[in-house]
Amino acid sequence: MDKLLQAFLTTAAPSGYEDALQAKFTEAITEFVDCVETDVLGNVIATKKGKDSTPKIMLSAHCDEIGFLVSNIDDNGFLYVQEIGGIDTDLLPGRKVDIHTEKGTIPGIIGKKAIHLTRGEEKKKFEVSDIWIDIAANSKEEAEKAVQIGDFITYAKDAVFYDNGLVASPSTDNRIGVWVLVETAKLLADKALNCSVYFVSSCQEELGARGAKTAADAIRPNFGIAIDVTHATDYPTADTKLTGNIKLGKGPVITMGPNINTTVCRQLKAAAQGLSVQYEAIARPTGTDANVIQLSSCGVKTGLVSIPCRYMHTPYEMVSIQDAQQAAHLLGQFISHNFTL
Ligand SMILES: [Zn+2]
Repeated sequence: MDKLLQAFLTTAAPSGYEDALQAKFTEAITEFVDCVETDVLGNVIATKKGKDSTPKIMLSAHCDEIGFLVSNIDDNGFLYVQEIGGIDTDLLPGRKVDIHTEKGTIPGIIGKKAIHLTRGEEKKKFEVSDIWIDIAANSKEEAEKAVQIGDFITYAKDAVFYDNGLVASPSTDNRIGVWVLVETAKLLADKALNCSVYFVSSCQEELGARGAKTAADAIRPNFGIAIDVTHATDYPTADTKLTGNIKLGKGPVITMGPNINTTVCRQLKAAAQGLSVQYEAIARPTGTDANVIQLSSCGVKTGLVSIPCRYMHTPYEMVSIQDAQQAAHLLGQFISHNFTL
């Protein structure tokens, strides 16, 4: 089991509340770079410096996850929430969650009427407005001693490591990408490069890549590559007709399409020699940091390297650690092939 990946996967950091994860990222990457900074939104930017006028390459992986915010506490001490990001609401009833309060983390249970008592209309799909969280409080006063409006909530933290290198966790999207940043920095640490590499652990991607926007505006990179998860299509019911075959364990995915600069794409393909990679076409702006990076400043040459992921935005998103390791090698080779002194 990889200790750093486990630490990343079991740290709570929904969009807007990324501090704890960013502290772990900073601790992990500092020894491989020249400096580490945090900006106003909470992005962490770790820089391996080149000479003054060398090109700038931004590698961006978002560190935030989906979650909830406590928006109301009723007279009986039940909590009501608003969602942070794209929650799969059908999966909520019966789920254990962690409520992150000023005094520490407390467990909560998302309640549901017993199946014996559920009739007709009540068997509908769930919305976030249908759920309540039970913290075993007897009254509003008792609940308010532990929880305040605005406290954030995540799925109960867990990371399931399989012997064959697959891992499943509620925040695999995109802690696996942040882990790739650290692995890439490690691979490049001793290389003399004629470029500066900015390793960005970006925030608030799940709300529209808000962190990558301010980071790209500040860095003004010549090249930007986002590292994120993409949908694997290798499980029952997955439709491959339009998306193609994307499998866990067959390597990272290089994306092509209008969001991707053709030169960067070609250079990534060239750098992939000797590695197992997969390809994906996306004919619209991707739902990743690559979208805002491409449109920052006067436009940035952008690429996207993805880790195949089953069950995205469910409480157990599954990826292959080998795919992530290959992604780090791909990024390392892309940079060392094109920008070695
Ligand atoms: Zn993501």
